[in-house]
Amino acid sequence: MPASVLIVEDEPAILELIAINLQHAGFDTLRAKSAEEANRLLGDVLPDLVLLDWMLPGQSGLALARRLRGDARTKEMPLIFLTARADETDKLAGLESGADDYVTKPFSTKELVARIRAVLRRRKPQYGDEPVDVAGLMLDPAAHRVTGNGLPLALGPTEFRLLHYLLTHPNRVYSRAQLLDEVWGDHVFIEERTVDVHIRRLRQALSPSGHDALIETVRGSGYALRPVIATPIAARSSG
Ligand code: CA
Repeated sequence: MPASVLIVEDEPAILELIAINLQHAGFDTLRAKSAEEANRLLGDVLPDLVLLDWMLPGQSGLALARRLRGDARTKEMPLIFLTARADETDKLAGLESGADDYVTKPFSTKELVARIRAVLRRRKPQYGDEPVDVAGLMLDPAAHRVTGNGLPLALGPTEFRLLHYLLTHPNRVYSRAQLLDEVWGDHVFIEERTVDVHIRRLRQALSPSGHDALIETVRGSGYALRPVIATPIAARSSG
């Protein structure tokens, strides 16, 4: 699944230029010409990153950034400021508002893409291409392959994304709503029990090598991946 980037920029030519370049780089793009339009869009979808122009008609980019950081649903969203202001004070205000990075206009689109990738690598490692290996369970994003102790395992696309997310965020309990936000990217239109369905399928897919034991159901909370060596099937309790 490509990472999605919401571009908030009031200059149509710049908006178009950025959107085309990001699409060429393999991103899904969403566009907003004002903070108000961005707010409406963010009510329906959660992009993986927001690229935010500082100077906007109406509400400023900085005000929007502060609002995003103050809302539980969007407070963790990666954010890069895009601005003509190179002033140090503004840069500090931008970073203090919780932005992950700051790109000054004029910029090369190549540099912008590199900055976006760097922020996503840090904040959303599930979009990386690095193979992940946990307790003999290996996921290779570039080859789209999963093996358990060397044994090829067949996973559907959603199970693959779910596993990639859990492998890159081990030992943390995620609620169904959090997993929908992080793996599906937009939980507004999907029921939470969808997560249970895909966790069940994921466990089935991992069972040939016993790695289904890595996925723990945390009663009343959600799911976690525990990077422990899978124990033989006979030694495990059910559930
Ligand atoms: Ca502007």
